Amino acid sequence: MSNQDPVLDSTTLSTHEYVARSILPRFPDAILKSTESKAGTTFDIYFQEQLLLSLNKRGARYFFLSRRKRAVKWDTTTSFNPSRVTERILRDLAEADYEVLSTTNKQILKRPIHISRYKRCPGCLNDGGIKIIIRSESLTSENSQIYTPISRSIEINGAEIKCTGCGWMGVRSELLRKIRKPLT
Ligand SMILES: [Zn+2]
Repeated sequence: MSNQDPVLDSTTLSTHEYVARSILPRFPDAILKSTESKAGTTFDIYFQEQLLLSLNKRGARYFFLSRRKRAVKWDTTTSFNPSRVTERILRDLAEADYEVLSTTNKQILKRPIHISRYKRCPGCLNDGGIKIIIRSESLTSENSQIYTPISRSIEINGAEIKCTGCGWMGVRSELLRKIRKPLT
């Protein structure tokens, strides 16, 4: 089932209202607040009382950490597609560890980061148990080969990966190189 709101129409709504109202049902527990000013309406999206996105007639400003960019400007050309922009913002939220949903109500996962099979865990010195952390309560089994879910309520201090063997968490650069045992 699609969760795209049929009431939303990009031809009658302003771009910022359309994008803001399209993001909301795809971002569980997010809150939308609108404020009026001389410059028009501003739509702010909050999650856990933190302002993450602010959308106005010029574009969207990011208040969350995104590796890609800090803002999206609306394009005035005819090829401009508000639903494509919505997908791009949702993708950026997913990459920044927010639990957002695809059009088919599945969590949008971060793009897998490559973990070399020549690397091993600095905790238990084993390989094979290292997975990418997803900030979520659970995962579907099809994704559990690559990802491991950790609840948002647990502090992970910026860790990106976890060893499911010993529980070590950290970033890729901390992994140890696997050294082939010299022949004796
Ligand atoms: Zn380990």
